Amino acid sequence: MTRSVAGTEAFWGHGDATGLDLGGLSASEERQVMLRLRSRHFEQWATAAARVGHCTNPIRVRGASTTFDASTGQPVRSYSTDSEPLGVLHLRCGNRRADVCPSCSRLYASDMFHLIRCGVAGGKGVPGRVADNPLVFATMTAPSFGPVHTAASASGRCHPRSKSPECAHGRRTACFELHDDADPRLGQPLCWECYDYATHVVWQWWAPELWRRFTIALRRAVARHLGIKPRDLNDVATVQYAKVAEYQLRGVVHFHALIRCDGPRSRDGFEEAPAPITSQVLAELVAAAAREVHFDAPPVLDENATRNLRFGRQLDSRPVRATQRLDDPERPLRPEQVAGYLAKYATKSATTSVDGGTNPHLERIKAVAEAVAAAVTPDEGCDQVPYELMSHWVHMLGFRGHFATKSRRYSVTLGALRRARHRAKKLLAQAEETGSSLHLAALEAELMADEEDTTTLVIGHWRFAGTGWQTAGDAALARAAAVRAREYDQWKAEQRRNRPEQRS
Ligand SMILES: [Zn+2]
Ligand SMILES: [Zn+2]
Ligand SMILES: [Zn+2]
Repeated sequence: MTRSVAGTEAFWGHGDATGLDLGGLSASEERQVMLRLRSRHFEQWATAAARVGHCTNPIRVRGASTTFDASTGQPVRSYSTDSEPLGVLHLRCGNRRADVCPSCSRLYASDMFHLIRCGVAGGKGVPGRVADNPLVFATMTAPSFGPVHTAASASGRCHPRSKSPECAHGRRTACFELHDDADPRLGQPLCWECYDYATHVVWQWWAPELWRRFTIALRRAVARHLGIKPRDLNDVATVQYAKVAEYQLRGVVHFHALIRCDGPRSRDGFEEAPAPITSQVLAELVAAAAREVHFDAPPVLDENATRNLRFGRQLDSRPVRATQRLDDPERPLRPEQVAGYLAKYATKSATTSVDGGTNPHLERIKAVAEAVAAAVTPDEGCDQVPYELMSHWVHMLGFRGHFATKSRRYSVTLGALRRARHRAKKLLAQAEETGSSLHLAALEAELMADEEDTTTLVIGHWRFAGTGWQTAGDAALARAAAVRAREYDQWKAEQRRNRPEQRS
């Protein structure tokens, strides 16, 4: 249903009251929506919903806090949820998955983009000189565990082989098809009995360890190139990265990473890189380090052989430079594009769950992961990360790492971005109250300051009062409003683009 509702400005955040799209509601949800729209507290509810960005599943807390002036000890202001019309304070759920909370996942996506972009081009407290430091975009894949149907070969044909013998299971070892993107066979093995599921699962389990070893190997390689001992490296250069893990269709992750070389470790970071390390040199060192790292994985199931794990031969390591294009593989990449690219992967990974469903290949991976976890007796497990823990990661096909990680001094942190947003809101509210104008850009340094406000002290007591809105109808209303708010933001951005250049 699509309804027009008058007098709901607080809900929209602007004066335009076009209909909300509330399709696919059950009869009882529809009733709840109508009750809410007609309720005496609608305005208050709408304000609360707008305050959490129309989060679908907010956290409710009850309690009170008092803010004291730290120097005089005098109370400055106090707040209690008793004064809230709804009796509770709502906080964002913070979920990164779009199917769980469109609003919070979009906020995460936007924060992720800024985090990655600032490490490439500076901004939000990261000095602009960081853009001059050598930067590489690298992709590291898993090796092959057996041929799978693919659309990514050079010719476009899957597995063309002129001599096409059958495997031991009587299946063809060639496939001449041009699979399109929607072909459900993509990622499926040509022969599932030949496919090495055990090694697939073991590799996935240790992928974070391979990455860790790669970062160590790279630091050593940089030190070697500079002619210094690895333990002295921090006095001359540091290596920073932001990395994202993404599932390929064959159900194994690969890593995309932005890797940057900075100067010596310092309090603020982001120092100028030593001259001998150019983007081109860094790209070569990254490729060499990725080829070199390996790890002997403890045996699984009833085997007794270790597996020597490595990254796959498909390895990409390219300099990122300010003036080139992403779609030409011969040329270096442009920083803005590459940041957008990586941020997209980060949010895609966070928003998709690996639900095998009707995918027989993914179901077999899960079954093997389960078997590996079950076959380990506690004292048999290796001391690093015992395989029995794999039972917790079966739904992730045995991948236990984080989907987006970064080194400490790559860029700003998500926490700093959240704090800045909070401060910006406060400043905007103050400016609105006093009728003064506010230039947020000029205040960026203040917004991105490391420490919380130390001139005041907040003492409060909070109790968890539950999650979610009161009814499924409220949740549907919040979700629809989130969509509407997004459309409005896009419309505003469009207006800004179409307006002739105005600078104050
Ligand atoms: Zn949320
Ligand atoms: Zn094929
Ligand atoms: Zn076979």
